[in-house]
Amino acid sequence: MKKSKFIIKRVVAMAVAAAMLIAFPVKGSIAYAENDDKAEALAVSQEADDKTEDTDKENIEETDKDNIEAQEAQEEEQLSDYDRAIKEAADARHALQNDPTHVHHFRWIAKRNASESADGTINYMCEECDKVWYFRPYPAYYCFQGDIARQIEVAPQDFTVKVKTSLFINFNKQVMEALAKRPDVSLQVSFLRKEYVGDRLSFTIPAGEDTMSLLDENGYAGFIFLGNKYGMTLEVKHELDEEDAEAEETGSTEAVEVKEADSKESTETNESEENESAPSAKQI
Ligand SMILES: [Zn+2]
Repeated sequence: MKKSKFIIKRVVAMAVAAAMLIAFPVKGSIAYAENDDKAEALAVSQEADDKTEDTDKENIEETDKDNIEAQEAQEEEQLSDYDRAIKEAADARHALQNDPTHVHHFRWIAKRNASESADGTINYMCEECDKVWYFRPYPAYYCFQGDIARQIEVAPQDFTVKVKTSLFINFNKQVMEALAKRPDVSLQVSFLRKEYVGDRLSFTIPAGEDTMSLLDENGYAGFIFLGNKYGMTLEVKHELDEEDAEAEETGSTEAVEVKEADSKESTETNESEENESAPSAKQI
């Protein structure tokens, strides 16, 4: 008797899951995925051959395919060694999707928008084969952090991950944790000083650093602070317009020597940026 009760419960649960998917085709399942347990339950019912879900899957797969094809067409033109190494690693992950013994491990992974001031997405995807189950928009700042953390996580052995940003000026705990888990990976960062209009500077966090100790009391590591610690390179001197030039004449022009106060300032700036990441992005 108990067994038949259990079966009835399961059938009802599956019917409810299927009904939800019919009622809320894609957006409904995205909302559901916020709760990991429910998402897992959905993942189980998904295996049960539901036609509606298959359509959703196909839609996402097609979007993926389109993106991948567009990317490949671009990349074929000129692939640097850096891009090639990343592509090979990605291809190896994607090949798992055709492996019948592969078992997906889904979790939320953020992806930056190509335009970094715009919202990216957070994808409920397999961390091993990159298969995306569903996705939804996600604020640009958190996409930046999550995307860099993911790049570190999947970097080839002894790799230097390169980050170029014209908008962001710090890392949060997520990136430092990713580095701590991959002591063979270095992180090279190119950024703009003075909130996106200053000189382009770069620094590299070497492999094997105690990166968690780099975070300040609020859980951030400002680029100016990191640059002062690891050595900063001036990549591109900011071309001043006349007004800026006049103001600059009285001050120091030494770009690489930056006072400690700047790093505190950068942390503060980012805190407000975090709270209002959309408005600050629109200013650009
Ligand atoms: Zn997978």
